[in-house]
Amino acid sequence: MSQRYLGSQYLQATVMQFSLFAEMGRRAAPIFIAGVLLISSMLCGCQAWRASTAGDRPAAIAASPEWRDGRFRNAEGSHTDLPKALLRALSGAPDDVPASPVPVVMTDPAMLAMAPDSGLRVTWFGHSSTLLEIDGIRILTDPIWSERASPIGWLGPRRWYAPVIALTQFPRIDAVIISHDHYDHLDQATIIAMRHWTNLFIVPLGMGGRLERWGIARTRIVELDWWQSTQVGALAVAIVPARHSSGRLDPRSDHTLWGGFALLGARYRVYFSGDTGLQHAMTEIGERYGPFDLALIESGQYSEAWPDAHLGPEQAVLTAKQVNARVLLPVHWGLFKLAPHAWTEPVERVLAAARCADLKVITPRPGQSVEPTVPRPEDVQRWWPTLRWTSANEKPIVATINGSPAQRFAPTTCPVVPTREAVPD
Ligand SMILES: [Zn+2]
Ligand SMILES: [Zn+2]
Repeated sequence: MSQRYLGSQYLQATVMQFSLFAEMGRRAAPIFIAGVLLISSMLCGCQAWRASTAGDRPAAIAASPEWRDGRFRNAEGSHTDLPKALLRALSGAPDDVPASPVPVVMTDPAMLAMAPDSGLRVTWFGHSSTLLEIDGIRILTDPIWSERASPIGWLGPRRWYAPVIALTQFPRIDAVIISHDHYDHLDQATIIAMRHWTNLFIVPLGMGGRLERWGIARTRIVELDWWQSTQVGALAVAIVPARHSSGRLDPRSDHTLWGGFALLGARYRVYFSGDTGLQHAMTEIGERYGPFDLALIESGQYSEAWPDAHLGPEQAVLTAKQVNARVLLPVHWGLFKLAPHAWTEPVERVLAAARCADLKVITPRPGQSVEPTVPRPEDVQRWWPTLRWTSANEKPIVATINGSPAQRFAPTTCPVVPTREAVPD
């Protein structure tokens, strides 16, 4: 493997991390870029960088079909337009952050202490943090309670509102599931606050060591490869493929796996996409584990510069159909600005695409609990302001096939747009 290849992979991953720093301000950002370029050039010339740096559970990692040539890899490759991605990471968009307070609901701990009538309830806390109650089991997804999605307390994307419930107010949580190690999904302070809880942590391969270093007992950690599962009481929890990347502010990107989750109860089934681009495996997830009563699918923080790292709204709706979901809750929006689009654009575009696809979407406020099999009118209300947004026709997000920018999945906009198999880059 060439040094140039390694350097380009590192830069690509770093650009994805860099999008987390979009709010750091114009003065600091160029310094950060210069630092990234300098460190990359140093590392690419360094013999040590060429050695495999498999970290935790090296035997399990080496045995994984996803671990190839010294790092985890997507089954279908990934494309990032690096110059455009750097530009996008630095630029903003009109209304990319809320101009007035987001009308959140303070989640009522007393309500959470009572089982939902239907047996299935979801509470969205903004971004990809949710509480799922499925057949009596409580699961937290990608919990982030910190002020910023960043390794640095005073720098990086800042949340738009305080947590709608304190971590200490939760009833007993059975499992925390974490899709990957990016800062907006794996939050050190939140994990440390759970040191003395009793829950399991179910994470993709390679992430357990970090949790242990943060004080989580090894017996509480379950690491899984794609298509592997574990039990939480009567609930089966499987990790399923996703098309993304991993890495924190450290030169070793893609040394921990990323994934989505299928949560399979006796009565109800839920799919959580984690962060992902479109992939052929969506259909297989539906065939193996569907139909799902609810799908939490990432719908925000997209850009045409990183078409394989995030689905974008239309492909989120397509994914909901492919995994065979009855109801979609769009997540990965509504808390942080990590990409240059209006903050309300993900949900607007999801609703437009869902109308075409005849898919049910629930749109709770942050903090609001919904029983998706018996939705009430307030569960589908427009609680966000009406702002200008860019439509799928103007700026389509279309994943590549095998990471080749000239070969794309078919666009998933409404039929008014001619179907194209390939979109010129
Ligand atoms: Zn991510
Ligand atoms: Zn993310």
